[in-house]
Amino acid sequence: MPEQHPHLPELFGSSIYWLETSEAQRRPSASGGQRFDVVIVGGGFTGLWTAYHLTQADPSMSVAVVERETIGFGASGRNGGFAMTLLDLSLHQLRENNGDVAAREAHEAVAASVDEIGETIRREQIDCEWVRGGLMVVATNQAQRARIDQDMEAAEELGLSGFKRLSAEEVQAEVHSPTYVGGLREEHCGVMHPAKLARGLASVVEARGVTVFEATAVDDIEVLTDRVALRTRDGAVLEADQAVLATNAWAHADPRIGRKVLPLYTYIALTEPLDDRQWDEVGWASHCGIEDKRNFVHYYRRTLDGRILWGGSDGIVFPGRRIAAGHDRNNGVFHRLLGTFRDTFPQLADVRFTHHWGGPVGLTTRFVPVFGSVNSRLHYGAAYSGHGVAPSHTGGKILRDKVLGVAGDLNGLCFVDSREPSFPPEPIASIAAELSRRALRKQDDLAQQGKTDYLSEPLAMKVLRALE
Ligand SMILES: Cc1cc2nc3c(=O)[nH]c(=O)nc-3n(C[C@H](O)[C@H](O)[C@H](O)COP(=O)(O)OP(=O)(O)OC[C@H]3O[C@@H](n4cnc5c(N)ncnc54)[C@H](O)[C@@H]3O)c2cc1C
Repeated sequence: MPEQHPHLPELFGSSIYWLETSEAQRRPSASGGQRFDVVIVGGGFTGLWTAYHLTQADPSMSVAVVERETIGFGASGRNGGFAMTLLDLSLHQLRENNGDVAAREAHEAVAASVDEIGETIRREQIDCEWVRGGLMVVATNQAQRARIDQDMEAAEELGLSGFKRLSAEEVQAEVHSPTYVGGLREEHCGVMHPAKLARGLASVVEARGVTVFEATAVDDIEVLTDRVALRTRDGAVLEADQAVLATNAWAHADPRIGRKVLPLYTYIALTEPLDDRQWDEVGWASHCGIEDKRNFVHYYRRTLDGRILWGGSDGIVFPGRRIAAGHDRNNGVFHRLLGTFRDTFPQLADVRFTHHWGGPVGLTTRFVPVFGSVNSRLHYGAAYSGHGVAPSHTGGKILRDKVLGVAGDLNGLCFVDSREPSFPPEPIASIAAELSRRALRKQDDLAQQGKTDYLSEPLAMKVLRALE
């Protein structure tokens, strides 16, 4: 019988399941004295897709990826594994905030990335448990159903393909939860083992000649007239014609773009494998990813070894915007997740949880990522507000075009070279984020009790916006 974790009494496993169940290669750290055409800082999906697209476009280019821990250590190796189209808080919001043309272009670019991720996994033979089962968005109360109506209306008016409204009966026929009151299905979504994808991609780019350094933290990037000098924590210096900053939540510490990015922790709980009888009681034959429409969404999916991954429900910005190993688990969020899981699947009351973990995502004030160039030698792409698995593939192409100096179509997307507002300085930002969190969670709970809708923005959110 495995030991119980002292602080998480219902948990008997450990650590980050995806990292535990994918093979890590130990790569050397950078010792300095090397020059590359391009150095990419950050070994997550953004950095790896940038290396992939760059070497596809120009195989002669010398490229290095520099990662402070191991490949996939950040959000890319610990996420829910949904490659989905979401940008902004919803399709409706994307349209409201950017207009029809920009919303359609952005959505279609990321939808194309969902297709291309699947094709790349097949072509490059990356063994990462990819299942193209679509996305089912579910409403568990009438306020959430109104949000689904808004998204369906946006999809119809933008003329987007692949969306279908679902009745309560249709949703419940697919996945058996008494909580569902309606939903929609979006075809453009697949799920995978994210750490296997990240580590598989690293091997693919290495086979193309990309140098991958691990255990190498870049502490300073200096742009000089004829090159970029990247200094590591160990005192090594790498040189490059151009550099790409792909450090996502960690970008908050960068003096150039840091104020645009707030690190927010989101958490996951993972069940033990269900047996056949339990799966009969749940259904879910399509392996679709599922999200609800709360402010703090729940995202959940099956794994290929028969578990349910249950994530979301909350999101925390820690004081001082701190990212630390001590935040990788959170007792309060874990218990909140257990409660909502048991409400959703009362037939699984006996199922135990084996793993719980979290990680930092980069949040922006407009909930779309930030892509741009500090100057002709330094480019950046980060902060997908918790939904970067597919957009980072699009982002890799945007960064490729920036490095190559090509004015491709993607560089006209609404989150590229835009004037993304900054968050206020500390401690104001993390205090405002905590107040917003409480207000948004309360609104979620009241909506579930039928006591409010989502039409009015909580006061704390208004304050946060006013501080921008
Ligand atoms: C729990 C969780 C669940 C999620 N679920 C989903 C989901 O289902 N679908 C979805 O679309 N998105 C999801 N996301 C978000 C998604 O994982 C991210 O948007 C995406 O992985 C971002 O990729 P990235 O490469 O930009 O960042 P990361 O994967 O965070 O990579 C950044 C890397 O930079 C490295 N780094 C930082 N500083 C330095 C430095 N100074 N020098 C060198 N290296 C450095 C870090 O170690 C890290 O590996 C989730 C995130 C979390 C945490």
